[in-house]
Formats: sequence, C-alpha cells, structure tokens
Amino acid sequence: MVQFAPMRILVIGSGGREHALVWKLARSPHTTQLWCAPGNAGIARERLARGGAPVQCVKLGAEDLPGLLQFARDQKVDLTVVGPDNPLALGIVDRFQENGLRIWGPNRRAAQFESSKVFSQHFMEKHGIPTAKSGVFDNPQQAKAFTDSLAGKCAVKADGLALGKGVLICHDPAEAEAAIDDILVRKSFGDAGGRIVIQELLEGIEISLHALCDGKTARLFPTAQDHKRALDGDQGLNTGGMGTYSPTPFLNEAELTAVGDEILKPWLRGCTAEGIDYRGILYPGVMLTKSGPKILEFNARFGDPETQVYLTRLDSDLVELLNACVDGTLENLPMKWSPMASVCVVMASGGYPGSYPKGKPIQGLEAAEALPNTKVFHAGTADASGQVVTSGGRVLGVTAWGDTLSSACARAYEAVDLIHFEGAQFRRDIAAKALAAIRS
Ligand code: AMP
Repeated sequence: MVQFAPMRILVIGSGGREHALVWKLARSPHTTQLWCAPGNAGIARERLARGGAPVQCVKLGAEDLPGLLQFARDQKVDLTVVGPDNPLALGIVDRFQENGLRIWGPNRRAAQFESSKVFSQHFMEKHGIPTAKSGVFDNPQQAKAFTDSLAGKCAVKADGLALGKGVLICHDPAEAEAAIDDILVRKSFGDAGGRIVIQELLEGIEISLHALCDGKTARLFPTAQDHKRALDGDQGLNTGGMGTYSPTPFLNEAELTAVGDEILKPWLRGCTAEGIDYRGILYPGVMLTKSGPKILEFNARFGDPETQVYLTRLDSDLVELLNACVDGTLENLPMKWSPMASVCVVMASGGYPGSYPKGKPIQGLEAAEALPNTKVFHAGTADASGQVVTSGGRVLGVTAWGDTLSSACARAYEAVDLIHFEGAQFRRDIAAKALAAIRS
C-alpha cells in the first residue's frame, strides 16, 4: 500500500491559476489541510478529498511577505506554493527558506527570468537559446536607431514587471518612437522601464510551454495555446488571457520534444554554469516561426489560464510533483497526462481589460458544474452574503475536457451558456483555429 505523508499546504494568490492549483492539490490523498491567501469565492468552496475539510481562505495579500511567513510558521505549513510572479520577484522563496520553511517556486535570483527581461535576453544570447534579434537600451536615441534598422517592426519591452502591460508591439518607426518615449522618457511603467529590450517582430504561431524544474531536471508539459486578445478573431486589446486549450495541433509530440531540447537543454546548462538553482515552473512563450521556434519571453510561474487546462489533464499527484521540485528528486518521478483535450473559456467583466464594474451577481454556476467533465475555476469572484459576485476583470475560467478537442470545446461553451452575469464578456472562438487545422 502506498504511504501518504500528511501535508499542510498554503497556496498564495487569488486568480484562476490558484483555483486550479488548489483544486488539484485538494484531490491529493497527501493533503490534510489547505489554505489559500487570499483566495476567492470558488477556492473557499473547495473541499479536500482526504477527510472532506473545506479549503480555508486567509485574509493575507500575496505580497504581504511578513504576514505570510508568520502564518506559515504559526500553522506549521509543510509546503507553501506560490502562484503569482510578484511575491517571487520580492524574494518570498529566499525569505521562507532562510526561516527553515519549505516553499515551491524559484528564488529571487532565478525569478529574474521573469522579473528582468534584460537578464533573460542576455541569458538567452549567452547560452545559445533561440530568440528574436534584439538590443538592450537605456538611451532613447540609440533605441530609435535600432528600431529604424528594423523598419519599426518590433516589440518594445520594459525591463521589469509591469502588470503584464509592459510590451508594446510596433509596426512602423513612428509607433516604435512613441513606444520608446513612453517607457524611457515618460516613464509610464516607472522604475520597471529604466531599461528596455527591443526585439524584432516575429511572425508565426504563438504557443505556451511549461516545464517543472528541480534545479537539475526539467520536465516538459504537453502544449497549450492562450488567446491574448480581448475579442474574437484576435482583435481588440491585449489581456491576461481569454482562453486556452491543450494540446495544440500546431506541434506534434516529436516536434515538442525537439523544441523542448532546443530550449531546455541550453537553458539548464546555462543555469548550472551561472549557479542559478531554478526550482519551480518555467513557462517560456514561444513563437513557431518559419526559421524555427524562438523564445519571446520567460515566465517564472504557471500561466493563467494555461494552468486550468493543464491541471484538468494531469493524472499525476501534484503534491508529489511539487515536493519533488523542492527536494531535487524530479528525475525519479514520471509525469502522467490524460490523453483527453481540455478547453478553458474565460468569462470577463464588461469593459475588461479597461475599467469594469464589480459586485455583479453570478447565476448558473451550479448548473454549469453539474455537466460532466466540467469545472468552473473562479478568478475575480467574491462572496456577498452567500451569493457569488464579480470582483475582478477576469471572473471565471470555464473549463471542460473530452476525448477530442471538439467535444471539450462544445462542452465548455455549453457550460458558459448556462452562466450569467450583467455585462459578461467572452470569446466565442477559443480553440477555433486549432479545430480548423485538425479538420483541414
Ligand atoms: P511577452 O510578455 O514578452 O511575452 O509579450 C507579450 C506578448 O507580446 C506576447 O505574448 C506576444 O504575443 C507579443 N510579443 C512579444 N514579443 C514579440 C516579438 N518579438 N514578436 C512578436 N510578438 C511579440
């Protein structure tokens, strides 16, 4: 009989990604107590598979490092799992470790792959990781000379974290000049924009990769694809992500392995050479161009809403996988994935990604969740006297899985159609291009 070590786990964050993490961790027979700081209305409704205790939301912000440390100590937490990028960049992992606490996620130095685009770009170039032609600048004149050499077709990126808004896509010299001035001269992103990375504009299909890492071994997940624009047909403003599906037909198993090797092998060698101990998840954004895969950026945490489709396909025990990352024993632990496809459709508040109202009552959640192979992950939701109401831009990640991408997609939209709140906004074409590619 398998021995299950009792684990008291704290998850940090409050979005759809964290709901998916909590949902999967709650299903593990290892988990005996589960908290989420600060969590959301959906997370507060989860229960543990072992013993049936409810998941408890704790009123502590994801960036309240002293509060979180105190809580983990007081409650004798065995493992803290960090969802968002900000606490990683603030050094939460280093702080917990200095205090003898086990925590999953990269330390501050390793988290620079996301917190500094300059660091990442230099690292990729130094260690032969395929990426866009690029330059790093703090001088606007030199930056403009470089964008002129690209005929203005470029991505201008603030170095630091900018709430996912620090990348400006430009198609001509005037746009590029405006973007450079915006970040370097007008300081629209404050200190995050002290330096910029400018990349040539790459064309192709963009996919998300994820790999769990324990400092020595990197284990690649199946493929997923996000839909960043707010409106159908990839129109409208960039968002945090309006929907995902996994796997994508744009990269088969053999190609995925090849792409993984091309990226992860030099990346791991580079980490070893530079003494970077990366434990957590590495999430490279990749453009599949005519001249091969190229990295657009690295993230140091799970994607949102990629996590929702990944964890509904993961057959392995997530507690065991995260423990193996922390302990450096990932090599001995295979990951098992369901062959099913999974689709997540994000329902957002009207107006998102601009300003939006809050406090709108949400109807139909139970009916949607009663559908087979369906899970509604909450993001910006709150509890108002027992009624779930909207409280953020992205509100729900309606996720369904099935034998085919087509059946998963149909089920996800069946669930979406059962859910109502005033002003709800969502895309009708999540996975549509993939379905067309499969059919053709
Ligand atoms: P990043 O945060 O660096 O991934 O950039 C956000 C989004 O901007 C990406 O998901 C891409 O859609 C787009 N992007 C970033 N860099 C490039 C590039 N070099 N070429 C084309 N699109 C890009």
